[in-house]
Amino acid sequence: MAENKNEKMEAIVSLAKRRGFIYQGSEVYGGLSGTWDYGPLGVTLKRNIMKLWWKVFVEDREDMYGVDAAILMNQKVWKASGHVDTFTDPLVECSECKGRFRADKLDDPNKCPTCKADNSFSEARAFNMMFKTNVGPVDDESSISYLRPETAQGIFTNYKNIVDSFYPDLPFGIAQQGKAFRNEISPRDFIFRSREFEQMEIEYFVNPADWEVEFEKWVGLVHQWTKALGLPEENVHELEVEGDERAHYSKRTIDFEFDFPIGREELLGLAYRTDFDLMNIQNNAGKGMDYTVKGTNTKFVPHVIEPSFGVERALMAVLSSAYTEDEVNGEKRIFLKLPEHLAPVKYAVSPLLKNKPELVAKAREVYSILKKKHGAVMWDDNGNIGKRYRRQDEIGTPHCVVIDFESLDDDMVTIRDRDTTEQKRIKISEL
Ligand code: ATP
Repeated sequence: MAENKNEKMEAIVSLAKRRGFIYQGSEVYGGLSGTWDYGPLGVTLKRNIMKLWWKVFVEDREDMYGVDAAILMNQKVWKASGHVDTFTDPLVECSECKGRFRADKLDDPNKCPTCKADNSFSEARAFNMMFKTNVGPVDDESSISYLRPETAQGIFTNYKNIVDSFYPDLPFGIAQQGKAFRNEISPRDFIFRSREFEQMEIEYFVNPADWEVEFEKWVGLVHQWTKALGLPEENVHELEVEGDERAHYSKRTIDFEFDFPIGREELLGLAYRTDFDLMNIQNNAGKGMDYTVKGTNTKFVPHVIEPSFGVERALMAVLSSAYTEDEVNGEKRIFLKLPEHLAPVKYAVSPLLKNKPELVAKAREVYSILKKKHGAVMWDDNGNIGKRYRRQDEIGTPHCVVIDFESLDDDMVTIRDRDTTEQKRIKISEL
């Protein structure tokens, strides 16, 4: 059994690599710290999470509008939003080994975690986490741009477009999924703290008088979401973030934390951003951000509730909740107890023996039927049945279907359940 937290984390990282979920970015060249590449199963699991989110928060609701804004934005966006001046983490440098660390994340603020020197840290300085680049062929002040550190600004800059095109009633939300980039001082803990990651964000525009009621509704919706991910309720915690700890734009923040194998850490955030961003745009771009209540002359700049979800952290929470070890017939077994709606493969189909053409033909027939019905179906005829079950358990496939000689006569197959390992015979037509 993976007993301590690091062992469990290592077991998950190793399974993720071995089975084709997640690899270190640029691995063949020695890697690039803080970047990760998704293999066939990882990309499907990640997309299943993102699709579920889009369905729950956009498609199933009447008050939500999706956008997909450009990652590169005019530098004025990041000046007005405060990111150029204040999107920083405190950085200290060790005078002995020259290692650089994020001051507020050190286990011991007086000991270098790399060379173990005592009291070797410099004064903390503010390190801006945005990746700077230049847009166009001229490398000067005016061409500076940044890889977006959050998807939110691409929503705020489109607020007026959405109001003009759709004139939605308040409250309404604009949702976006996409990449965000932060030059984290110390990327670590697998995909938990990456330099390139994905966010799923909603800016929910409300009448300022209603912000508290709407905020509470979002607290409930966030819990529903963590349930939909299959995360155990007792592992999700609310942390009320106090004054100085909150981001510069927020008047109230709840961090939803999760008991990851690395400890209790932030899974996602819920913030009351007031009219901070829309007013910044109004003041800096000189465009009115007023909302006029339909049929009245009442005008105001809406306030904003922002639930901000990190895809990688959701994925890591799902993987760590699903990772299970047990014993089957006296042997250790590892399996991912993924909720069926998230599992990258729903059914694996095998002929009992791969060198018997009549079994293979029948199994191919079953495979085609299931593939049409469920899409995410894998053909697996590698190794013996025991090995196939082991592999499918490790990637979290809920059902394995085996076609044997009897199937040729009775049109029935063996279906094995991942969690209980129980096997049943059922009619192909009932699959
Ligand atoms: P932390 O305190 O852990 O650095 P944060 O408070 O800066 O996180 P937010 O700015 O609130 O994070 O970002 C919203 C969400 O985006 C987070 O809750 C998290 O899910 C995700 N996120 C932020 N930074 C990273 C990162 N470096 N790697 C992966 N996901 C991230």
